[in-house]
Amino acid sequence: MYLYNFHSHSCFDDGKCSPEEYLTEAIRLGFKSYGFSGHAPLPFESVWCIQKENFQKYLEEINLLKDKYAGIIDVYSGLEIDYIKGITGPAKFMEYKLDYVIGSVHFVEKGGEIFEIDGPYENFEKGFKEVFDCDKKALVYNFYEKTCDFLKSDKPDLLGHFDKVKLHLMRTVPGLEAEEWYKNLLKDVLVEIKNSGVIVEINVRGIYKGYTKEPYPAYDIIKQMKRLGIKISLNSDSHHINEITSKYDEVIPVLKAIGYEESMVFDRGFWKTTKF
Ligand SMILES: [Zn+2]
Ligand SMILES: [Zn+2]
Repeated sequence: MYLYNFHSHSCFDDGKCSPEEYLTEAIRLGFKSYGFSGHAPLPFESVWCIQKENFQKYLEEINLLKDKYAGIIDVYSGLEIDYIKGITGPAKFMEYKLDYVIGSVHFVEKGGEIFEIDGPYENFEKGFKEVFDCDKKALVYNFYEKTCDFLKSDKPDLLGHFDKVKLHLMRTVPGLEAEEWYKNLLKDVLVEIKNSGVIVEINVRGIYKGYTKEPYPAYDIIKQMKRLGIKISLNSDSHHINEITSKYDEVIPVLKAIGYEESMVFDRGFWKTTKF
C-alpha cells in the first residue's frame, strides 16, 4: 500500500488539526514518513497562509516533532510556496533550510491587481470580471506563465496541483479542457516541465472534496506526462486527518493503467522512486 504524503496543511495555516494529530493518524495507518507543507507566509493579507508571526513557531513545532518521533516516523518540514515575481517565491525561504518546497500557483495578477484562482468562488468570479474582463484566455495564460516562471527562475522540488486554474473557471467556462487552444497551451507547458526536470504532483484534493472527477492534473495531461517521461509524486493535500490517504485507492489503479508504476517520495534528503 502507498503510505506517503508530503503535501499536508495543519492548524498553522488553513488545516484543521495540529501537526501531531496528523502524525498520530499517519502512524496508525502505517506511514514511515510524513511531510508538512504549510502555505508560506505572504507579504499581503491572506487568511489561509501561515501568518508571519506564527512562522517560526511552525518551523519549531515540526522540528520538535522530528525529535519526538525519531525512530517511529521520519517527519519533514516543507512549505507550499507561490511564485509572484518580485513578491514571493521559493528563494525567499532558502534560509530556513526546509526539507523540500512545493511550488503552487494560487494567484493570477494583472496591472498590480492580484486575486486567487482558488478559495471562494465569489472572489474568483469578481476577479475574473473586474481584473480580466471575463477573458478566459488571458486568465489561463497568466496562470501558466507563472508556472513557467517558477520553473525558469525559482524551481521548487514539486510542482503542486498544476492545472488548478480549472477549479472555478470550469464552472464559468464548461468544456474548457476540451478546447483546442487550451490543449495546445498545456502541450507547451509540459515541454517546459519536462525540460526543467521538476517532479509533478498528482493531487487528489479536488476528488475527495467533490470539486473534480479527476486529480490535478487531469488524466489526459498525466498520459502526456508519461509519454514525456515526467516524474510524478502522489499526494493528498490533506487539510484534515481524515484526508491523509483519501482517494489514493481510486487514483492509483488509473495511474498504473496509464503506465506510472512509481511515485517519487522524499527520503532523508533525497527524492527517490517507490512502487505504488
Ligand atoms: Zn495549493
Ligand atoms: Zn496545499
